Amino acid sequence: MNRNTGLEQWASRIVSWVPVAFQQGKMPYVFFFALVLMPVLLMFAVISPYPYASVIFSLFAVFLLLLLVLVDRGMSLNRAIHMGTALGAIVLLYSAWVSGGIHSPRLSWLLLLPLTPFYVINRRAGIFWLAVVMALQLFIAVASHLAWVPVFEIGDEHVLSSFMVYTLATCVLIVVPLMYDHMYRQALDASRSHQRELEERREELEHTSQMREHFIATVSHELRTPMNAILGFNALLLARLGDKPEARKVLNHTRQSADHLMTVINDILDYSQSQAGHLVIQPETFELRKTVEHAFELFFPRVKSMDLAYRIELDEKLPQWVHTDRHRLMQVLVNLLGNALKFTHQGQVVLRVEWQNPGVMFAVQDTGIGIAKDRQAEIFNRFSQANGDIQALYGGNGLGLAISRTLVQLLGGDIGFASEPGQGSRFWFHLPLTACPEPQQKPSAARMAVQTAQLPWRFLIVDDHPVNRLLARQVLQNAWPQSQIVEVSDGQQAVDTLCQQPFDLVLMDMVMPVMDGIVATRTIRAQGSAAVRDVLILGLTANVNPVDLDAFRQEGLDDVMLKPFEPDLLCAKVEHWLLERN
Ligand code: ADP
Repeated sequence: MNRNTGLEQWASRIVSWVPVAFQQGKMPYVFFFALVLMPVLLMFAVISPYPYASVIFSLFAVFLLLLLVLVDRGMSLNRAIHMGTALGAIVLLYSAWVSGGIHSPRLSWLLLLPLTPFYVINRRAGIFWLAVVMALQLFIAVASHLAWVPVFEIGDEHVLSSFMVYTLATCVLIVVPLMYDHMYRQALDASRSHQRELEERREELEHTSQMREHFIATVSHELRTPMNAILGFNALLLARLGDKPEARKVLNHTRQSADHLMTVINDILDYSQSQAGHLVIQPETFELRKTVEHAFELFFPRVKSMDLAYRIELDEKLPQWVHTDRHRLMQVLVNLLGNALKFTHQGQVVLRVEWQNPGVMFAVQDTGIGIAKDRQAEIFNRFSQANGDIQALYGGNGLGLAISRTLVQLLGGDIGFASEPGQGSRFWFHLPLTACPEPQQKPSAARMAVQTAQLPWRFLIVDDHPVNRLLARQVLQNAWPQSQIVEVSDGQQAVDTLCQQPFDLVLMDMVMPVMDGIVATRTIRAQGSAAVRDVLILGLTANVNPVDLDAFRQEGLDDVMLKPFEPDLLCAKVEHWLLERN
């Protein structure tokens, strides 16, 4: 290893003395080859005994020197190699001709001629020169046979030059493959170290991406947990207020702000999940009109205080039932409507939904500020806003359209817009929806809430946050005043409590200290006693990472609900499972 490094140091030191034009790749080898060849030629100029040998070999050496200078001045190396090889062929042909024709040892040099073009230029050049050399050999053989070549008397004076020819040719035959092998190893080492670097970089990126996902999951969980309490208690208070319009108004404001905060949190989470390829679509069959109208009506409170015509136009021919992800469709509609209302101060905002056979076209048209032409190309890119002032004037995170585009594409459609600065914009998306048969009527969860209000159910609430436990207790207590509710703050306590007393249903948080909800559910499902093992477990979690949710479900959850939850929906779900089991 060390020796290698030492050798390489030497090699790089030698290369640094070489003219700049010869320092890269194969150039140092070419340079040294030419350098060695020149004294060899001069030596032959001295020792070769046949006519004009000294002049011809000296001229060849000078010509090689000239080629080196020309390459240094910018001449192409390939051209120089071809020229050198051609002159070499002529010189060798001459020297073989005058020194015995086909019997001359000079012919062995001819064999080495294609090596340089082969190694330095490419295989084709090598094969070309091989063909030339074979043709010359044939020619000289025929010429010898026909006695064209001059008669050559072999004497003692030829011994030395013939010996030198064979020795040098053998050396070249050994040195060239060694040189080539060395070059190959160098290239291999370089490529291996490059590969190692790439591998390290890949591992680093993977690690960073895992850290990022973990961070976002944690932050989202931490944000959703208090939101659960805010939204949940808000809903409880609203339900108890009766007719106190002032207080109702205040609570509605709190609710709207909290909802807004939830969309921001969800946007960021959706975005990071779409980046990691984790965004999933959950199609269901639902009534298209109702969903579109619901999205439209969500903005009534906001529009009330604005001087705007806010309209919806639904095509008569729209299919009644369609099959796609209802929640994601709502999300895109809310996003586009929210933007239109945000950027329109007067005039109108219209939501049009048309049957296009095939598919449905959704369009939100406004008479707002429009988008500057030079920014239109980037408007679907993440964190992109039409100009720097937009953030200061209107807020927003620049993620809404990027997420909408991802969602529409996941739903199999496409999205686009046309906008005229100062006149308004029309954002549209097209989904490949078709009419579906009406699904088997399941009683709507919210409608069937709590027929069993008077039964003394026994509930176990497992959550490490006291405020969340309080909220769940209040919600359950309101719906089932006769129920008995026990609270514990981690999975281990839940397992212990279940082994001591029977329960009808467990509300199980996922992320908890000591033992998390996933392990606790697994432990409960593995218990020997059927009463413990088969208890109803409803996961209730602020962790919305689909991978974690899947792991939670697979441990044997009966159902799962995300925080923040709608109290009525939680009650309906609980009721549904209690009725199904009892
Ligand atoms: P943001 O949260 O900033 O609204 P979006 O991705 O939803 O993020 O929108 C990106 C940008 O596109 C906005 O900041 C705004 O400049 C421009 N934009 C989107 N919809 C409209 C519209 N209806 N009218 C004018 N500009 C719009």
